[in-house]
Amino acid sequence: MTKLGERLKGKVSLVTGASRGIGRASCLQLAKEGAKVAITDLIDDEGRELLQEVREIQGNQEQNGRNAGYWHLDVSNEEEVKSVFEQVKKEFGNINVLVNNAGIAGPNKPTHEVKGKEWQKVMDVNVNGVYYCTKHVVPMMKEAGGGSIINLSSIYGLVSAPDLPAYHASKGAVRLMSKTDALFYAKDGIRVNSIHPGYIWTPLVAALGEESEVGVEEFRKQLDSKHPIGHVGEPDDIAYGVVYLSSDESKFVTGSELIIDGGYTAQ
Ligand code: NDP
Repeated sequence: MTKLGERLKGKVSLVTGASRGIGRASCLQLAKEGAKVAITDLIDDEGRELLQEVREIQGNQEQNGRNAGYWHLDVSNEEEVKSVFEQVKKEFGNINVLVNNAGIAGPNKPTHEVKGKEWQKVMDVNVNGVYYCTKHVVPMMKEAGGGSIINLSSIYGLVSAPDLPAYHASKGAVRLMSKTDALFYAKDGIRVNSIHPGYIWTPLVAALGEESEVGVEEFRKQLDSKHPIGHVGEPDDIAYGVVYLSSDESKFVTGSELIIDGGYTAQ
């Protein structure tokens, strides 16, 4: 059995879009550091499998009650957000750590070719999702005397590239939503930060590779070469950042941008 760390002992965390990729890795690392974990996603079968893994990590914590659960949650549906957050509160208590991770890439074509519906869908998930989840977690965090909101932006919220126009717009929005909320809620002890990953090899990026003209293998090689460190990242590279921002080790960090990108934006 993995020995549990205690950096997040006693904290209730909720991760959106948690079944795969960065969200999945974050749930596992949060559990390893002793947090209670609410896993939420659209993909229920993978979410429930992850729940089993999280419970294995938590192991003998079970004797103190349930420390992890899975909930179906579409972040673009405010009613669902409200209802799931209430259920999590009933089960575990007020949420202390919210990881706004759910995100989609959207259409990869020039701006004038993007259909209104395609653009809107990206905004609904990547921007409105962060808004709804923030809106419904803040009262709980105030009640708890503080908390940490971690928003997954991207290097694409800092610098541009001639691809994924709706995604760029959405991640730029998430960057500034984080700063605004950091300022609104600093007095309540609620910290809000954004994380800006470089390319991380996850199902989201693999799908971009499958759609690309050059094929997945060449696509990955091309991505590797864009990162000064020589390769794309892996989900745990971001999950360790999530743990840091969730923990009291980052108690003086708010409105900040945690760039984890193998040097991509240093160029
Ligand atoms: P993945 O696609 O691998 O995982 C994201 C998860 O979110 C999937 O399970 C996805 O389901 C789910 N999801 C999609 N729409 C919704 C929704 N409306 N409500 C709830 N869940 C939803 O993504 P990554 O792990 O790669 O990315 C996680 C976050 O990190 C995203 O916000 C992304 O933009 C950001 N990021 C990722 C980078 C990367 O290189 N991977 C780089 C920079 C930022 P489904 O598969 O059905 O869509």
